[in-house]
Amino acid sequence: MWWPTTMTLSEFLNWLCIVQLISGVMSVDTSSLQALLSPGARIDSDASQSPRWSEYKAPRPGSVVHPATEEDVQITVKWAINRSVPFLVQNGGNGWATTFKLDQTGILIHLDQLRSVTFNSNNTQATVEGGALISDVVAAAAAHSALVLTGTCNCVGALGAMLGGGFSNLMGQYGLAVDNFVSLNLVKPNGEAVTVTPRNAGLWWALRGAGPNFGVVTSAVLKAYPVPASRLSAWTGPLVFQPAQLEPVVRAIQNLTLAPEMALSLNFINQAGSPIILTTVFYHGTEDTGRAAFKSLFDIGPIADSTAVQPYAAWNDGSNGPCVKGGRRPNWGVGLASMDPGSWRDVYDVWAELIKWPSAENSSVLMNLLPTDKARSLPDSSSAYPFRSTVKMFAVFGAFYRDPAFDATAVSYGQRARRLWQATDGLAQHSTYINNAFGDESLQTIYGNSLERLRQLKEQIDPEGRFNEWFPLS
Ligand SMILES: Cc1cc2nc3c(=O)[nH]c(=O)nc-3n(C[C@H](O)[C@H](O)[C@H](O)COP(=O)(O)OP(=O)(O)OC[C@H]3O[C@@H](n4cnc5c(N)ncnc54)[C@H](O)[C@@H]3O)c2cc1C
Repeated sequence: MWWPTTMTLSEFLNWLCIVQLISGVMSVDTSSLQALLSPGARIDSDASQSPRWSEYKAPRPGSVVHPATEEDVQITVKWAINRSVPFLVQNGGNGWATTFKLDQTGILIHLDQLRSVTFNSNNTQATVEGGALISDVVAAAAAHSALVLTGTCNCVGALGAMLGGGFSNLMGQYGLAVDNFVSLNLVKPNGEAVTVTPRNAGLWWALRGAGPNFGVVTSAVLKAYPVPASRLSAWTGPLVFQPAQLEPVVRAIQNLTLAPEMALSLNFINQAGSPIILTTVFYHGTEDTGRAAFKSLFDIGPIADSTAVQPYAAWNDGSNGPCVKGGRRPNWGVGLASMDPGSWRDVYDVWAELIKWPSAENSSVLMNLLPTDKARSLPDSSSAYPFRSTVKMFAVFGAFYRDPAFDATAVSYGQRARRLWQATDGLAQHSTYINNAFGDESLQTIYGNSLERLRQLKEQIDPEGRFNEWFPLS
């Protein structure tokens, strides 16, 4: 066989491998990697063993590496860098971005063996590994009688969600998840492992809102809040309304004064062929105070009320339904400063039309309203998450179907709904929480006023653009 005479045999074999990868002739040969990893690490050639929440524009790796230690992550990143093998890290696999480009020539670094959640001796700090799910964090926190900020769906990656900002039912009391980081163990885009703290000004700022663009966070230390038993429960659950009640519900939500203990979500759901408007109310306190706080919603006359006092470990149970993985689920998110009942009716009509398609009957709409005062006590510039002072609520229009032939139709519905919301978003510039973005928005919409600084940091920290799958900055 011929090879360039200026190369040694091993250089040639590396070169041949890269050429074959580029031309798609072979998937990734990871045989030399396995020997470098700790005994518990695994490498699968079958990516179907690592299912994702949405298969729409999902990454399609050639191999999946399951590191068993934080050091394995670093070894894998270095191995991939040395061979110019593209890679992407996965935590919960719920990210629905359409900017993923990983294909058969690349590896997925799936952190599913790094799920430990441990606490310091007085339960004021939790160390969360990069593969832990929200369910892992909540279970461990409840067992330690301490509160830790997480999102509200058990299946979501704990750090995957936090690195974009991190919204939780406890945000009114403790701020964004990124405000609660103490330190982050990071494998940088050059393969170096570092512990990032406020002393590392640029990285510390960038990781807290645009994390996936700057490396792999293998674990994070977070503030934890030890509480007495009485604080380990909340009054929460769904109130169901008829579609005809949408406008008064929207007006009531718009006019709610949110105490720090409150949180609310609004959903459009197709329940066995009957569209319903569902609000999930949350009050970190007693039932009486919760009912009083959400009185304006009760005054509208919900057709069902399944609220109850729930233990901390069960707060997210109502969201387990949407956690099921698989199918195609493109989502279009928007940030809003206020809710316009007319726009919400128009979006409802778009959704009601979409769910008439037999293939898309389980599509849904979601909106989260959380108290923002605590997060706004810090300036917008305090972290890369850019919308503290502007956005009050986040809405998401989600199509759910299985047939790829429906993609274009789904996109047209999603874009219509997004346009309707944006027309009355009440913002000086359209904004989208990065974790809710679709992928066709401008980077300004996603990164807001953080964009320029993020671009500069990206050039310094990841000049090769190795972390460029999540709303890439370069
Ligand atoms: C059912 C559902 C419920 C949700 N609820 C909430 C909520 O309550 N609050 C909220 O804030 N968000 C919520 N989200 C949005 C969620 O935050 C994003 O979808 C998030 O990106 C998912 O993270 P993941 O780890 O599950 O997904 P992944 O697809 O694994 O990760 C998303 C992106 O982050 C990167 N990433 C993941 N882990 C790391 C790491 N350790 N280091 C570096 N990069 C990493 C990945 O490479 C990928 O680019 C929800 C999403 C879904 C689907």
